[in-house]
Amino acid sequence: MPLNDAYGRVITKMRISVTDRCDLRCTYCMPAEGLQWLPKAEILSFEEIVRILKVSTELGIRKVRLTGGEPLVRSGIPTLIRMIRELPNVKDLAMTTNGIQLAQFAPALAEAGLDRINISLDSLDRDRFHQLTRRDAIDRVLEGIRAASDVFPGRVKINAVAMKGVTELEYKAFAELAEELDLIVRFIEFMPLDAEAKWVAGDVLTGSEILAGMQKHVELEEKPFSDVHSPAVEYRFKSGRGGVGFINSVSQPFCESCDRVRLTAHGRLRTCLFSIQETDLLPIIRTGSEEELGRVLTQCIWNKEEGHQINNPDFQRSDRPMSQIGG
Ligand code: SF4
Repeated sequence: MPLNDAYGRVITKMRISVTDRCDLRCTYCMPAEGLQWLPKAEILSFEEIVRILKVSTELGIRKVRLTGGEPLVRSGIPTLIRMIRELPNVKDLAMTTNGIQLAQFAPALAEAGLDRINISLDSLDRDRFHQLTRRDAIDRVLEGIRAASDVFPGRVKINAVAMKGVTELEYKAFAELAEELDLIVRFIEFMPLDAEAKWVAGDVLTGSEILAGMQKHVELEEKPFSDVHSPAVEYRFKSGRGGVGFINSVSQPFCESCDRVRLTAHGRLRTCLFSIQETDLLPIIRTGSEEELGRVLTQCIWNKEEGHQINNPDFQRSDRPMSQIGG
């Protein structure tokens, strides 16, 4: 029996944060000095990640995405990818990175068996990138994107958090990069996951506003082409090279077709990005049986939240920082 929840959704995707640490300091994610990192002793080893994935994929998980913090700050990620690739039920293995170390790692990640890669990049302008990330590193990220495009042809996407006063200035640059490298740029509506808890609905630059802005710079195909379970609505450029996508979590929530759960680097299962409660799987992963792990996982997923309550007045923020959830 697949992994169902009480709302009839079938859960097939697991996002795994392999570390809460990062080599950037994005202003909406963490303070300049960083955060109190998770205790090393609690971080899942590669063997423990494979153990939870063995049980999860036997129950129905088919797609896995590695996230962080920044996954490439943890050493040995190509080894972890090879270990996960041994699991017969993993049909798709992807990763989200900030691209800082990607030029160095892209060939090894592809060789290890990674299928797809998303790069988080909110600005192509050197100064704005520096301001947003507190690092003058846009060149390294662009080098990483080019390296990834070489070894993952057609399987590279850029994820940009849409921010008023920033994104509107970057439509042309993002359209040109997407066309040049034949990749998809996806704009993600700003969500209440910011470290300083300053998010207000008025800050949200909506997908439809961005679509209108992008259409001033590039011609899009009529019909979006993304699959129903993808959180993004994606359009190809009329030129046939590249495209743009929109993840409208706030203005057009897609929770009714949600098919994913998340695992933090220290083994907390989150059945929704905005979960208030979590289930600590670490003790079971370390000392419990696979049956017990399977039972708890199935039960937690059955009780998965119906959806986020961002647009409801009684919305309660999660107290777990974005860098520990992994997006
Ligand atoms: S907010 Fe929660 S339920 Fe909605 S799509 Fe995201 S993870 Fe799924």
